[in-house]
Amino acid sequence: MSEASRPALAYIGLGSNLETPREQLRRALRSLDALPLTQCVARSSLYASAPIGPQDQPDFVNAVAAIHTRLSPLALLDQLQALEQRHRRVRRRHWGPRTLDLDLLWYAGLAQYHPRLTLPHPQMPYRRFVLEPLAEIAPDFTLADRPLASYLPALADQPLHRLDD
Ligand code: AMP
Repeated sequence: MSEASRPALAYIGLGSNLETPREQLRRALRSLDALPLTQCVARSSLYASAPIGPQDQPDFVNAVAAIHTRLSPLALLDQLQALEQRHRRVRRRHWGPRTLDLDLLWYAGLAQYHPRLTLPHPQMPYRRFVLEPLAEIAPDFTLADRPLASYLPALADQPLHRLDD
């Protein structure tokens, strides 16, 4: 396991639409806090979103968490993928239903392309279910030097609503 010298701030996107999604997310948020060299420092509310891609699947529950971590980006990705497996991730087709999806959205401002890990997550600007929960916990966050609010009007056709936790 690799270690950075100082904790890095990172944002994780969580999503689930199978097997009691709210419970999957609550468990996953607890598990993030229990990752090695990692502490969860903020979490958004839970949100319900309509699926992107095939529509013949349940709605998703989404959230975003902020963490402090001493794991390197790839070591963190390994941990997130192991966590997905521990939630017995079911995924039979691209953009299909899954018990838990974890995306590393942003890591300490790093911009990189790597076959396993592109940062910031390339789909971020196009996903209301990522940007609104992120704005809830990081209102001053900018993506490509633009405030999050500037991305939202173009995404208004993506249904999203905040759930009572
Ligand atoms: P998905 O499950 O559809 O989110 O895609 C997972 C695949 O995307 C894995 O093979 C990852 O290595 C790759 N990937 C590339 N960039 C990222 C990122 N920022 N966060 C999570 N997975 C990523």
